[in-house]
Amino acid sequence: MKIPVGILGATGSVGQKFIQLLSDHPWFEINSVAASERSAGKKYRDAVNWFMTAPIPETVADLTIRTCEPELPCKIVFSGLDASVAGDIETEFAKAGYVVISNSRNHRFDPDVPLLIPEVNSDHLKLIEQQKYGDGCIVTNPNCSTIGMTLALKPLHDAFGIAAVNVVTLQALSGAGYPGVASLDIIDNVLPFISNEEPKMESEPLKILGSLNGDKIDFADFPISAQCNRIPVLDGHLECLSVTLKQKASADQLISAWKNFSGEPQKMDLPLAPKQPIYYFEQNNLPQPKLQRNLDKGMAVSIGRLRECPIFDYKFVILSHNTIRGAAGGAILNAEIMVKKKLIDL
Ligand code: NAP
Repeated sequence: MKIPVGILGATGSVGQKFIQLLSDHPWFEINSVAASERSAGKKYRDAVNWFMTAPIPETVADLTIRTCEPELPCKIVFSGLDASVAGDIETEFAKAGYVVISNSRNHRFDPDVPLLIPEVNSDHLKLIEQQKYGDGCIVTNPNCSTIGMTLALKPLHDAFGIAAVNVVTLQALSGAGYPGVASLDIIDNVLPFISNEEPKMESEPLKILGSLNGDKIDFADFPISAQCNRIPVLDGHLECLSVTLKQKASADQLISAWKNFSGEPQKMDLPLAPKQPIYYFEQNNLPQPKLQRNLDKGMAVSIGRLRECPIFDYKFVILSHNTIRGAAGGAILNAEIMVKKKLIDL
């Protein structure tokens, strides 16, 4: 029998991606959907403005949307709630004994909450033991552009040490939710500002790449400078990185660190784990959002254009799918590793 799960914020952009990705999941089955008072009481198919390319799964279409009260008939809830309400609602669910797997920023820097990328810092799951929620807990996903960047940095951090990072992003529209950015603002245009994005990119990798020291995380210590731009692409965040390493390394050593990188999700053969977390492309016009965003279930990071940098040591380009690896898919992988490690009392 599959594990019943609920979706908080089920009508939103991330909520819909959860529903799409969970529709044929081998372990999980959606039995409850919740959203705001505006949607509650309606059938899911009547309340949602569905904009996924596949139809609404039949098993979900007729579910009645509930309010976000901790009365859902499941143990695990995935949260795609608007950040203005996510913090308190997620706390209430955790207190009531639910395992909350969140995409929102609210709890990311709670000292006892893992900010998890399972290939990078699955050992941080130990922080859950510090949480004061009884049977419940909260585990968070990093920001969508942080996830791709941190996966690309992890093998370099382990092998050579990172001294400094500069990143300029070109971020897809779906990252702004629905309806997101007005068409008149973004067609024929680039917006050189994404609210709150740069501070997240400059801080979150330091917690994720930090080391577990007893019951706390010692943050990694290197400066990150981020400039974030919104571009008229539907899905897939492209990021141009420049990196200085602590230890000298050749370009071939960087590429082999990326190609040989793998983590616990691959060893455990988790359902949504990419076979390979990182792909390196030799062609000088790759990666591109339209071509590589769905690579390996949309869960892999594509890297290309590695070259020496006259200011930093190296520069390169990365791409990852913002609503799959950067949101719903990443959160589902978090739940999969927790189930496999028997951290959830089902
Ligand atoms: P969204 O499309 O605006 O969806 C927000 C969801 O929250 C909707 O289901 C909405 O329900 C619900 N909601 C709003 N106010 C509520 C309330 N007062 N009580 C209960 N539910 C309420 O946003 P999104 O893009 O999916 O993002 C959701 C979260 O994930 C955000 O915190 C965002 O920062 C984060 N995130 C997004 C991405 C991305 O690529 N989009 C990536 C990573 C993380 P109604 O439909 O009923 O209003």
